[in-house]
Amino acid sequence: MPGVYVLAEHDRGVTDPATHEAFTAASALAANLGESVVAVCVGSFDSDFEIACSQYGISEGIILTSPLITDYGPEIWGQAVADLLKLCDPRVIVAVGTDKGNEVLAQASARSDMPFVANCVEVEHKADWAITRTQWGGSLLEDVTVSGDFLFLSYAHHAVEPVPSATPSEVTLQLLEVEVDSALTRTLVQERTTLTEGATLSTASVVISGGRGVGSADAFAPLEELAELLSGKVGCSRAVTNNGWRSHADQVGQTGTRIAPEIYIACGISGAIQHWVGAMASKNILAINTDPEANMVTKAGYAVIADLHEVVPAVIDEIKRRRGTT
Ligand SMILES: Cc1cc2nc3c(=O)[nH]c(=O)nc-3n(C[C@H](O)[C@H](O)[C@H](O)COP(=O)(O)OP(=O)(O)OC[C@H]3O[C@@H](n4cnc5c(N)ncnc54)[C@H](O)[C@@H]3O)c2cc1C
Repeated sequence: MPGVYVLAEHDRGVTDPATHEAFTAASALAANLGESVVAVCVGSFDSDFEIACSQYGISEGIILTSPLITDYGPEIWGQAVADLLKLCDPRVIVAVGTDKGNEVLAQASARSDMPFVANCVEVEHKADWAITRTQWGGSLLEDVTVSGDFLFLSYAHHAVEPVPSATPSEVTLQLLEVEVDSALTRTLVQERTTLTEGATLSTASVVISGGRGVGSADAFAPLEELAELLSGKVGCSRAVTNNGWRSHADQVGQTGTRIAPEIYIACGISGAIQHWVGAMASKNILAINTDPEANMVTKAGYAVIADLHEVVPAVIDEIKRRRGTT
């Protein structure tokens, strides 16, 4: 069946919220192309895939199964997605441009010898595909023209606001068994270590980051306290991880995590381009910095030009006072 096929990202059946961005983007693209949307889940787990399809108004779902697909593996997932080209007749296969989404589509593209355009922000098809995508960690927009009918494409993570359908759909699921080579199971996930419980830097609605201006590992304590009061997470710049004050898991930026919180509070961070590309999807930014000319200050919607060691404790005191918890 032709259509816009969209890959659901999941971990052992639990749908990743990034999938909702892919579902929203795929639905808009399908409407533009006059095609239907088909959601695709790789793996044989019990899944909340069907619920996500219904919430986003997608009525057709395909589950690609094989006894060999026992967990996530880029090669085996990529081969399963490549097999869709033989089993169905997709016009385009879409994913969200997370590490996993791009990895699977890159595998599928190489295995099927079909083009893949990663990290798109706008996609149109007239005579050819006219695409705008992000490059260099999000600091550059590139216009691309691709000829040919079929395309793999990923949408830049956090570029699309997920919009559930006003009317949930009835979902028809189809199981398709794919024949995959056992050699592809050499890169399956075998064990996991949980570094953080609950919201992560990537999904938190409030992120409070500290940079070199914080001064030491111990001086992050007030930022931790503020994050706890606001149910947020603490992030940092690379200057901080380079100094060994915090772990790399907390780093925001091109070589760290891309965040998209409702509020980003950047304390003592200059806003170098490599940090900015990880923070720029934040809905609101408050910079606390002694330098009024700092890049983070000039780009932020709100700024306090002062010493963070005075401002952060003052904000904590005021929150506690208003909550009556001092
Ligand atoms: C390939 C590559 C990848 C990179 N990836 C990343 C990345 O993923 N993430 C990242 O963050 N960086 C990354 N970097 C590093 C980046 O270029 C910057 O060096 C880094 O972001 C600077 O960190 P900073 O803002 O904390 O420090 P600085 O640039 O030194 O800025 C410190 C800021 O603190 C302010 N300040 C000082 N004291 C106070 C105070 N008491 N109160 C308030 N403000 C104060 C200063 O005015 C200044 O603006 C990368 C670099 C390269 C080359």
